[in-house]
Amino acid sequence: MIVRFPESLSRVKKLFGWISMVSMLLALAQAEAMQRSSQPLVIVLLGPPGAGKGTHAPPLSEATGLPHISTGDLFRTHIQQGTDLGKLAKTYIDQGNLVPDELVLDMLFDRLKEPDCTQGSILDGFPRTLPQAKSLDARLKGRCAMLVLNFYVPDSILIERIAGRLICRDCKRPYHKLFDPPRETGFCEQCGGSLYTREDDQEAIVRKRLTVYRTETLPLIEYYAAQKDVLKEIDAQNSKDGVFHDILEVIPTSIKARRHLSVQ
Ligand code: ADP
Ligand code: ZN
Repeated sequence: MIVRFPESLSRVKKLFGWISMVSMLLALAQAEAMQRSSQPLVIVLLGPPGAGKGTHAPPLSEATGLPHISTGDLFRTHIQQGTDLGKLAKTYIDQGNLVPDELVLDMLFDRLKEPDCTQGSILDGFPRTLPQAKSLDARLKGRCAMLVLNFYVPDSILIERIAGRLICRDCKRPYHKLFDPPRETGFCEQCGGSLYTREDDQEAIVRKRLTVYRTETLPLIEYYAAQKDVLKEIDAQNSKDGVFHDILEVIPTSIKARRHLSVQ
């Protein structure tokens, strides 16, 4: 057998060339993945009123260690405290309309400056319009990864869910008169606070909120679908536990691990 050394040597060189290129690409991908996993993460809960954003946000906050920020709750606190912002916001909220973007943006961006948001946050009820989504992108650009969970539920179920909804005045936990009643009627089983029905949960106002959702918020699904790896669909018709299981499935392991590490 004749072995042609120069030829086989060049083959070996080529092979080494390929191997080193592939390992370089792998290292680059790994470095990018590591950078993404150590970046702060903003999780946006998107979906119509009654889809369960407010139900799943507190346990998700517990699982990830990220603070739950609900713009609706922030407004309701302003209303309770009788601030100027609260008085103004109430005129929109009671009619089932959205509060103007400038007011929402100022309030939310102030909240995001607080130290508990350095690793990210869970945004419930924000953004709700395209200008809000674009302002959020501009603010986070390059500094934060983003994950948008789109909760989808048919309208008939939404109306049924909101019609029986009760909220704790103190810790804001939602209940449902039929599907998730508190152990003691009228009181929160988590903190003992009194339960109430939100004024904007009357059926006529709920229908208005659903119309506003369709015109103002629905376009955000397309907006986020156009961004790579950002949008995840959640079938929110399932049982509470089933939905939460599906949510945890799409949360990056690195985020759950971060929480795990900080708990230990
Ligand atoms: P839900 O998700 O059940 O509709 P929320 O508690 O999130 O209720 O919000 C209640 C109301 O607060 C909304 O109907 C709207 O008027 C106002 N609101 C909350 N978040 C925003 C937002 N991002 N932009 C404009 N208005 C908002
Ligand atoms: Zn409570």
